[in-house]
Amino acid sequence: ERRVVVVGAGMAGVQTAVALREQGFTGPVTLIGAEPHQPYDRPPLSKAVLLGTAEGSAFDVDFEALGITLRLGCEALGVRPAEHVLDTSEGPVPYDVLVLATGAEPVRLPGAEGVPGVHLLRTLDDAERLRPVLARQHDVVVVGAGWIGAEFATAAREAGCAVTVVEAADRPLADALPAEVAAPMTAWYADAGAELRTRARVERVESGGPGESGRVVLDDGTRLAAGAVVVGIGARPATGWLAGSGIVLGAHGEVLADDLLRTSAPDVHAVGDCASFPSARYGERLLVHHWDNALQGPRTVAADIVGTPGGETPAAYDPVPYFWSEQFGRFVQYAGHHTAADTTLWRGDPASPAWTVCWLREGRLVALLAVGRPRDLAQGRRLIQAGTPMDPDLLADPAKPLKAA
Ligand code: FAD
Repeated sequence: ERRVVVVGAGMAGVQTAVALREQGFTGPVTLIGAEPHQPYDRPPLSKAVLLGTAEGSAFDVDFEALGITLRLGCEALGVRPAEHVLDTSEGPVPYDVLVLATGAEPVRLPGAEGVPGVHLLRTLDDAERLRPVLARQHDVVVVGAGWIGAEFATAAREAGCAVTVVEAADRPLADALPAEVAAPMTAWYADAGAELRTRARVERVESGGPGESGRVVLDDGTRLAAGAVVVGIGARPATGWLAGSGIVLGAHGEVLADDLLRTSAPDVHAVGDCASFPSARYGERLLVHHWDNALQGPRTVAADIVGTPGGETPAAYDPVPYFWSEQFGRFVQYAGHHTAADTTLWRGDPASPAWTVCWLREGRLVALLAVGRPRDLAQGRRLIQAGTPMDPDLLADPAKPLKAA
């Protein structure tokens, strides 16, 4: 029987192991993870886990019952595809099929590395280090007004901290959303009592003396007192360890997978935050750093590994990307991919608590952002999936359900 080895015990790795069993794979499955903790889910880290309203976020999976061998605290160091061997901190591990699911790692703030009181927010350990910062209501400076920055600022305000968010761009979520769509979100910071400083760059971080706050120095000379600094300036695929393996990586260091999530090396797949894939739906390669992609992708990987009795190729992986974020008391959801859209339509007033933006291309819905309108999201997601032609007038009326012309 073929031995499947999955590297990375996050959402994508765990789901791959589980999907293999669900799809009837009976051979040995080993799940290798660098972190010592029982595999856990990341979204709660910037929400309930941070606020201490949830202890942890371990996946509710009985690995033993599923016959999945867990090797935690074991770091993959390299792959030798020709020999079908994975090299790890615990020695070589032979495989017949290898799945790369090492996720992403946060981008560090240059010059702030190793400065006491500077935090990242990616792992359970990070969240546990940040809990006392919230509990003691330190003044915090958040670097980056992206998804993580916004969610951390939300939790910190909820805990009663004074919060300043420093953002290099002129608005929040500058990499993710067009200016007109992100613009209304600027007000959310002030509403929550957080100060948002846009077009501001951190020049350096000075650590405080004993019992004293540190300081964040901005490029205009402003000095901000900070009991803690939280850096949320993006994430990069965690693939440095693949150097020299011959596995082809893209411009962002992501594994270049095909539409079955196979890599350039034989019998090696890649899934989740560490890999990009070609989307026929959107006509471009997508590198998705969201939870739903780490849930859906593994089903394709497992189907390709398990195979069909007739030997047919499984369906290509071409999802409608989806994610959500909980920030400043709002539930923000996004489905699709808007870069090739030709029309933007608003449903509702962006100054109100609930509104939706629809992106169309040649009369068909390609993406949608819903703030406090989960029904729009659910209906829109299906319409994007189906590629149904839409009536723009109907679409722009927030009182009418989102449906086809
Ligand atoms: P990861 O979760 O990064 O897991 C990869 C695992 O591989 C890690 O445990 C890592 O330790 C391990 N690993 C790395 N290198 C090695 C190695 N060399 N050897 C062995 N193991 C290794 N998405 C949403 O859609 N909505 C949200 O609200 C949301 N909130 C989030 C909040 C936070 C704080 C974070 C960090 C992410 C959030 N996300 C959210 C994104 C989502 O969690 C990720 O897209 C998802 O975790 C990706 O899963 P993954 O398994 O590909 O990668």
